[in-house]
Amino acid sequence: MKALVYHGPGQKAWEEIADPHVKEPTDAVVQVDTTTICGSDLHILKGDVPEVVDGLVLGHEAVGTIVELGTAVRNHKIGDRVVVSCMTFEGTCEYCRKGLTSKCQAVGGDSWQLGHWINGTQAEYVHTPLADLSLFKLPEGVSDAAAVMTSDIMSTGYEIGVVNGKVFPASSVVVIGAGPVGLCAMLTASLHGPAKVVAVDMDPNRLEVAQASFGATHGVNSADPDWKDQVKGIVGKDGADVVIEAVGIPVTLEAAWDLIKPGGYVANVGVHGKPVNLPIERLWTSNIVITTGLVNMVTGPMMLDLLAANKLNVDALATHNFKLDQFVDAYEVFGAAAKNQALKMILTR
Ligand code: NAD
Ligand code: ZN
Repeated sequence: MKALVYHGPGQKAWEEIADPHVKEPTDAVVQVDTTTICGSDLHILKGDVPEVVDGLVLGHEAVGTIVELGTAVRNHKIGDRVVVSCMTFEGTCEYCRKGLTSKCQAVGGDSWQLGHWINGTQAEYVHTPLADLSLFKLPEGVSDAAAVMTSDIMSTGYEIGVVNGKVFPASSVVVIGAGPVGLCAMLTASLHGPAKVVAVDMDPNRLEVAQASFGATHGVNSADPDWKDQVKGIVGKDGADVVIEAVGIPVTLEAAWDLIKPGGYVANVGVHGKPVNLPIERLWTSNIVITTGLVNMVTGPMMLDLLAANKLNVDALATHNFKLDQFVDAYEVFGAAAKNQALKMILTR
């Protein structure tokens, strides 16, 4: 088969590798019908994720068809159309039983396996361990392009942004970062009925998209020197009930310390590579809660149900379409996302 193979920082190729087959009775092999590229894949290509080795197939998001199945898999059968979860987990360890499936002990405590520790989804076929819980059945009436958003980003925005941030009816919510993950946080916040959702980004196109299609009530450009005052002009001088950070750099998380209302929740979603300044001497009296997290994907099937019921619409995320053999072009477009007004690349077989 053909796959997008990582060959060290800055190096990748769409090339021939051996076909995957079931190894353990709990595995499946899925024919990839639709896949996409995540910001994390760009981090890997920059060399920011050194545990990814030369020769690994990238990608952790896909929709496909089961073509091989281990004898112990009970929830699926050959020919089923499924979503591949970005997290691979078994479901019975101490962490899984608490819903912290991202720490599943059956995979050594790091459930981000695909495209990280084992060959991923940017390929014609993908080998998926622990298939019972790590593949979600695709409901009728959900397009592949919508379903692939449930592999990772919808649940990331919801579980780590909206749920951790305790968005309530009438809450004021500030989402810093209007990339695919931040947009999913804005969209799924709507499930909890917030009064105000303020999108913050430096990309005017993303601010527009946030308001047109993802439920943001306001957009604020953080390139404006007075942007924090603009946010307070919208949510009130004491700040917002919830601030969701969906960028992953110090300045955007540190901004939350100025924007959070006493008693509020700061939910960090961004992946950080540098330490962040926490002015605890000023914050300790403000009764705020700061949450962190890696997505657990326990809400993946729920997101699919919501798409099937037309309660959420993610169509505006799919900005560019390619065939699998155009992967290198797709990376180029995605790598210059602002210039190309790109959100998610949709690659189909
Ligand atoms: P992205 O790079 O597409 O989006 C980030 C957005 O932040 C961009 O629109 C960019 O213009 C904006 N931005 C950059 N600097 C800014 C600033 N100073 N002020 C305001 N906006 C700024 O990324 P994404 O795919 O949407 O992912 C968002 C973050 O979530 C990343 O850090 C990603 O690694 C992380 N992530 C976390 C998890 C998890 O489980 N916690 C899972 C997936 C992704
Ligand atoms: Zn991802």
